[in-house]
Amino acid sequence: MKIVMLARNATLYSHKRLKEAAEARGHTLDVVDTLRCYMNIASRRPEIYYNGEKLEGYDAVIPRIGASVTFYGTAVLRQFEMMGVYPLNESVGIGRSRDKLRSMQLLARDGIGLPVTTFAHDPKVADEVVELAGGTPVVIKLLEGTQGLGVVLADTKRSAKSVIEAFRASNTNILIQEFIKEAGGTDIRALVVGGRVIAAMKRSGAEGEFRSNLHRGGSAQVVKLSPEERSTAVRAAKAMGLNACGVDMLRANHGPVVMEVNSSPGLEGIEKATGLDIAGTMIEYLEKNVKSGKTKTKGKG
Ligand code: ADP
Repeated sequence: MKIVMLARNATLYSHKRLKEAAEARGHTLDVVDTLRCYMNIASRRPEIYYNGEKLEGYDAVIPRIGASVTFYGTAVLRQFEMMGVYPLNESVGIGRSRDKLRSMQLLARDGIGLPVTTFAHDPKVADEVVELAGGTPVVIKLLEGTQGLGVVLADTKRSAKSVIEAFRASNTNILIQEFIKEAGGTDIRALVVGGRVIAAMKRSGAEGEFRSNLHRGGSAQVVKLSPEERSTAVRAAKAMGLNACGVDMLRANHGPVVMEVNSSPGLEGIEKATGLDIAGTMIEYLEKNVKSGKTKTKGKG
């Protein structure tokens, strides 16, 4: 296969590993900087240019589109989809995963376990939405935060109210969520590829930290998932329409609840914790599924 990877930084661990894994399996993989791609979107024959040359002849595209470039990145990916290049994840699935509210609505529609989550525009209803989320303590999240930034634990009604007002004053959208205390600062990431959980790890936050993100000083360990956790992860990936993703869950008393689905999961933490060749499994998925024009949405919808 001739593979193109959309990534801003070719030297990141995940990107290096995907290139290595593709080459080890006899493919070529070119890394192109997403933001330096340009295109004529009005042409009947979709084209993409990079460094003065037309990008053509690719069988598959691996989107590694960072959250800060979602808008432009998904547009470039959509153009590849319209050219018939098979994507590891489709632009529509990536777009869904970048909006926490939209993701949760899709997951809820499919009956997937979620923390009780409320959403409101007007800070005047702060008290009501906190009550609706089960009362304090609550977790307040920016809709478009990543790596644990913009996730706040409010212990009292008063602090919840001031955090909600502060976020709203800066005109950001937020979710208010039941705090799953019993998770004890630990979450579970399941890596789903092609409808199967191929690896899982447990991430524990640094001392005194309720957020388990590795970027926030958390540590990772291999974990064995229960059948219910596996099926939750697989169903979440399917609801989002993602072929390769990381599903983050909390172990609540009443079973697993999904916090978010990540369409460009980092490979370093999970490969190091499990010793598995996850990049290789992603390339293998492309080998089995690559077919020109096989995308479900071709950028529509
Ligand atoms: P981000 O997308 O920024 O990583 P998350 O929603 O994944 O934000 O939250 C970051 C971390 O905070 C999670 O990994 C988890 O450890 C903790 N956390 C998030 N929501 C809850 C919750 N409702 N209850 C308990 N812990 C939570």
